Amino acid sequence: YCGMVAIVGRPNVGKSTLLNKLLGQKVSITSKKPQTTRHRIMGIHTDGAQQIVFIDTPGLHIEEKRAINRLMNRAAASSLADVAMVIFVVDGMTWTADDDMVLQKLQHRNDDRKIILAINKVDNIKDKESLFPYLTELAKKFDFDEILPISASKGTNVQRILDMARESL
Ligand code: GDP
Ligand code: MG
Repeated sequence: YCGMVAIVGRPNVGKSTLLNKLLGQKVSITSKKPQTTRHRIMGIHTDGAQQIVFIDTPGLHIEEKRAINRLMNRAAASSLADVAMVIFVVDGMTWTADDDMVLQKLQHRNDDRKIILAINKVDNIKDKESLFPYLTELAKKFDFDEILPISASKGTNVQRILDMARESL
């Protein structure tokens, strides 16, 4: 059996890095420069009879003031239509207005999709205890199915995400 999982988040939080790690190969370009990915990138994770299509979804943070932005946004939103799970990736240090905008887009839908919050780049955080106030704050924003500190580049908790993706199908 198979299903789709979307990776969403503002630019530069590590979506493409996570996609590559989940797939164990470089299918999506990662960069320090924001907005490297303008199009959806998909990758298929195959495990026996099970296949998960991961979709790297840029553009959910974009304000819809201009027609082109509405178009990009609609493309991003449409890739959320049929997914079993959404991985909302944020930076382990900073929450921005763009993160709120992404979260808003997720809140518009009331179906049984799982939404997990992946707090990325925790390898950058020396004092792990300092994460707790941030985690508590984020837990209040939305009823996430799971909140998981991860490191997409180091691979920390990426297996856990893969397990949850499997369970969501
Ligand atoms: P995207 O715009 O959300 O797709 O972000 P990218 O995957 O392109 O990553 C943006 C930048 O963050 C790149 O320089 C990555 O190397 C870096 N990055 C991504 N994941 C991690 C992580 O877990 N830890 C650290 N320290 N850097 C990361
Ligand atoms: Mg990217």
